[in-house]
Amino acid sequence: MQKFQLYIDGQFEDGAAEFYSINPATGQAWAKMPEARREQVNRAVKAAHRAFSDARWAGLTASQRGKLLYKLADLLEQAAPKLAELETTDTGKIIRETSSQIAYVAEYYRYYAGLADKLEGSYIPVDKPDMQTWLIREPVGVIAAIVPWNSQLFLSAVKLGPALAAGCTVVLKASEEAPAPLLEFAKLIDQAGFPQGVVNVITGFGAECGAVLSGHPLVAHVAFTGGPETAKHIVSNTAQNLAKVSLELGGKSPFIVFADADLDSAVNAQVAAIFAATGQSCVAGSRLLIDASIKDEFVQRLATRVQSIKIGLPNEMQTEYGPLCTLKQRDKIQQVVDQSVAQGATLVTGGQVCEGAGYYYPPTILDCSFVADAASLTTELFGPVLSVDSFSSEQEAIQKANSTPYGLAAGVFTTNLTRAHRMTKAIRSGIVWLNTYRAVSPLAPFGGYGLSGHGREGGLSAVYDYTTTKTVWLRTSDEPIADPFVMR
Ligand code: NAD
Repeated sequence: MQKFQLYIDGQFEDGAAEFYSINPATGQAWAKMPEARREQVNRAVKAAHRAFSDARWAGLTASQRGKLLYKLADLLEQAAPKLAELETTDTGKIIRETSSQIAYVAEYYRYYAGLADKLEGSYIPVDKPDMQTWLIREPVGVIAAIVPWNSQLFLSAVKLGPALAAGCTVVLKASEEAPAPLLEFAKLIDQAGFPQGVVNVITGFGAECGAVLSGHPLVAHVAFTGGPETAKHIVSNTAQNLAKVSLELGGKSPFIVFADADLDSAVNAQVAAIFAATGQSCVAGSRLLIDASIKDEFVQRLATRVQSIKIGLPNEMQTEYGPLCTLKQRDKIQQVVDQSVAQGATLVTGGQVCEGAGYYYPPTILDCSFVADAASLTTELFGPVLSVDSFSSEQEAIQKANSTPYGLAAGVFTTNLTRAHRMTKAIRSGIVWLNTYRAVSPLAPFGGYGLSGHGREGGLSAVYDYTTTKTVWLRTSDEPIADPFVMR
């Protein structure tokens, strides 16, 4: 059985306790994980704070910080096959996806490496003739980066890349569900030569490790990705330290298909939107809103395509669809599917737990077009369940698209250019994909509206989120200050 360690203040160490990580393809424990409790979390934050405050990190030039990030990117690219294998074993995500996604994560570090020495201050032409005023941009301090188990190297990169480029230090908390890839990633931080304490990697349970970290008085910014309920705890924890918070949460994203769309393309994109990563994706296009005039034909074509998906062991290259990450998750999905059927939704395909070992659940399509309040239409399932609804006009499509409290992503399939623009403007979500789905890039911001969170990751603006400004005033007059009771 493999064993992993925490990385605190430049040293690898065991946790205060241990827990087992389960391989979801078999349902068996495969590795022992270290659990960080209060004392270790505290030590990790203090190490990050020391590194932030003394010359070992603050004393480096921005270009030197950038070089370390470039080195990390190269090491990550080399280690991608091993990290992909670990992620596949620990989360059940198919190797086809983990290997390509992790190799691409290196580009995020390169993008932010290049930005490190381009964060300029500014001169302010104030309305006072004897004053010079300028802004200095400075890093905010210690960042608590708290991530879920899915796409964890990507979700860490969009936090660590801009935070380190800006000059912050970090305590990264991996999810207790599948921490292996990030604990292994800590070795790359060490090899890249980041000074001791600049990046600390821990894991443990939310109620202790996550709560102590997010409420720690030395933390300046909590960058969180996870579920909305956990986000409420995070916000309440930060009432202790008044830390800044950025939240990347879940979604119930609409996938809208008009009758004029390229339907072959839309079918494949819909399959990718909801069944890639076994639906365990924050941007999953889990609500199909289909033009009523083509509903039966489209759903039929979709069902045919879905039935040919290759379900199998996630570590085999030909597999297209693996298990869910946890048993708890599979139980929740089954319960919501059963509830929706009881409410009157019709099962088109799937809907029953797969037999055999592992946490497999089949690709499932539910026709909810006559059940407006079906549980599967309103609940974020974070799983492979597509709920179908239909519309008879553009206005109805917009109204249904915007009918949830979430607003992370939306897909619109149409060949009508003016309609594409109208839909883009009317939909309330942080991302709109037109005639495509699930495209990401380090250059493009990512984030949500409403219950999907706030703050944006990726792109140039993310670096500024990890900085603050200092306004400097210089009086240039040689005359002494004569009257203390006049405001200048
Ligand atoms: P989760 O909210 O259960 O856990 C996320 C992290 O929060 C874990 O590291 C966990 O230990 C920690 N945590 C739990 N309780 C805590 C507490 N009280 N204080 C501090 N930290 C605590 O999420 P999950 O089940 O691992 O992931 C699934 C969720 O993540 C879904 O809702 C999904 O949509 C969302 N997600 C969002 C994005 C995005 O970019 N918007 C990306 C991926 C996943």
